[in-house]
Amino acid sequence: MNRGVVVTGGAHGIGKQICSAFINAGDRVCFIDTDEKRSLDIVNQTPGLFYFNGDVADPADLKNFIEFALDKLKRIDILVNNACRGNKGILSGLTYEEFDNTLSIGLKAPYELSRLCKDELKKNRGRIINIASSRAFQSEPDTEAYASAKGGIVALTHALAISLGPEVLVNCIAPGWINVTEQEKFSREDVAAIPAGKVGTPKDISKMVAFLCDQDFITGETITVDGGMNKRMIYHGDWNWHFKPNS
Ligand code: NAD
Repeated sequence: MNRGVVVTGGAHGIGKQICSAFINAGDRVCFIDTDEKRSLDIVNQTPGLFYFNGDVADPADLKNFIEFALDKLKRIDILVNNACRGNKGILSGLTYEEFDNTLSIGLKAPYELSRLCKDELKKNRGRIINIASSRAFQSEPDTEAYASAKGGIVALTHALAISLGPEVLVNCIAPGWINVTEQEKFSREDVAAIPAGKVGTPKDISKMVAFLCDQDFITGETITVDGGMNKRMIYHGDWNWHFKPNS
């Protein structure tokens, strides 16, 4: 389709698949990632794909990345804020600086990139797609930093949708368990815990990205793509499931 697409965290997992899906659709893609080796391996085999070596937690890298992307792509139609990293929380004594770093990667970078791309996206009636997590809505213990970044990006999505519409539509995807490893088989129990009957794949997410980029009547929304995992209500004793409190 010859759109200019900017992606964060494109060297591995979901971001890598998102880049590949846009390339297969005939678009030109530029991504930023800290993993130089993996990134160069992919870029060297993929015409139309460009790589910028940088850390999304560093605002100077973000500015240079967008300048680089505009030089390579000549236009920006789509921004996909994908990069994030898990981090611990209050039970393991996560420090202020560590908490802040997770927010820098998962929340401040999506804001800053939206700001840097705003004029291009408005001019081209573009799209912003943010990647959150089902952990924006439910938690395990000791996950405060990641949950906060993901809750924040859900709110950032509707705020940006109101500020940048009608020219730019802004939506968010909240993935559940997506297999980004080499593992091919999962236990019967793991699979059975997911109502759709499988662990998700990066393609399940890239298909939703493509859908959200091709439609023009959804904005400000977060769409959960988790095989229904968060929809199952379980009480202690149901399905032979037993809750073991820590104390
Ligand atoms: P991944 O670890 O497989 O890949 C992430 C990529 O981002 C890597 O290439 C990494 O080098 C890059 N990256 C990380 N920090 C960076 C930084 N500061 N600057 C630049 N690049 C950076 O991760 P994934 O599982 O594909 O996750 C992608 C997105 O999906 C993340 O936002 C994640 O929170 C979200 N998500 C994943 C799952 C899952 O089960 N895999 C579930 C819910 C949400």
